[in-house]
Amino acid sequence: MFMFAEVERKLRMMRKVFESMEISEDLRGYSWDKPPVEPINDVRLSISDINGFCPTRRDAFVKYVLREKPRMNQHMVRGLAYHKVIRDTLVALKKAVYSGTTSGEELVELFFSSNEIPEKISKNLGVDLKECLKLYRFLVLQISARVDEVLSKYPDSDDENIVGLALPPFVEKRVDGSLVGLSKHLSVDVFTPHAVLDFKSGYSKEEHMLGLAGYALAIEADEEIDVNYGFLIYIRVDKNVHFRHVGFVVGDELRREFIEVRDEIAELVDSGIDPGKPNQCPKFCSYYGVCNEGCD
Ligand code: SF4
Repeated sequence: MFMFAEVERKLRMMRKVFESMEISEDLRGYSWDKPPVEPINDVRLSISDINGFCPTRRDAFVKYVLREKPRMNQHMVRGLAYHKVIRDTLVALKKAVYSGTTSGEELVELFFSSNEIPEKISKNLGVDLKECLKLYRFLVLQISARVDEVLSKYPDSDDENIVGLALPPFVEKRVDGSLVGLSKHLSVDVFTPHAVLDFKSGYSKEEHMLGLAGYALAIEADEEIDVNYGFLIYIRVDKNVHFRHVGFVVGDELRREFIEVRDEIAELVDSGIDPGKPNQCPKFCSYYGVCNEGCD
């Protein structure tokens, strides 16, 4: 089942859970003008700072105090490539529908006749073309099938209806997170009413949920709407394309945890004090070369 159909199914199930759960108003993003949501200082963080894996949080010190640039490792580049394939393919599919290509078969024909999107991304980022191509074709097939499903259910659909029902409403939605202590230029992978989705290409870890809680609070503050659910979609491409969905309610506990981490990092950056290194640094840390000069 395609990822968005699966997300919709899980959302329906989670709404049942949510009926018995309440999210405190003072932990919503639109309570940005009072503690605990109100930022503790002028430091504004990115979601990757919240997701960071440095045990001492020296990554934030290196980034904001020493002003060093992270070095992209192979996992990060692959993640970026997957994000770009998803974004560019979905945007191109929407454009094609609006330009009159309104059947699944036509979409497959059109998109399979050109590999421009995956080829360009693979070339620009230096990642394996086969992986980009597989993901691209997978998306085209899944969306095309969904378009046909919509047409068979609602034969009178026009292009606007098809796009609305077969494709996610916002891909890489821009959000100003500054009211809740985050960057002014956040980009949310996918936003559907009341839910945020984030694509991940590596292994799963708890902090990813905190990152999504950050996005939820940022949207609540920026747009004054409730965001109750989060979905992490882990992508793996081998012989096939795999999507693993982790859905959850962005409840009070997660919101508090996000605020705690946000405040801890903001305080560290504001103090300018080096927190020191952990006993061992993972080689794939994007600041490995900075913190371990000569060990590259
Ligand atoms: S290299 Fe080590 S100390 Fe530096 S940010 Fe990475 S994990 Fe932290």
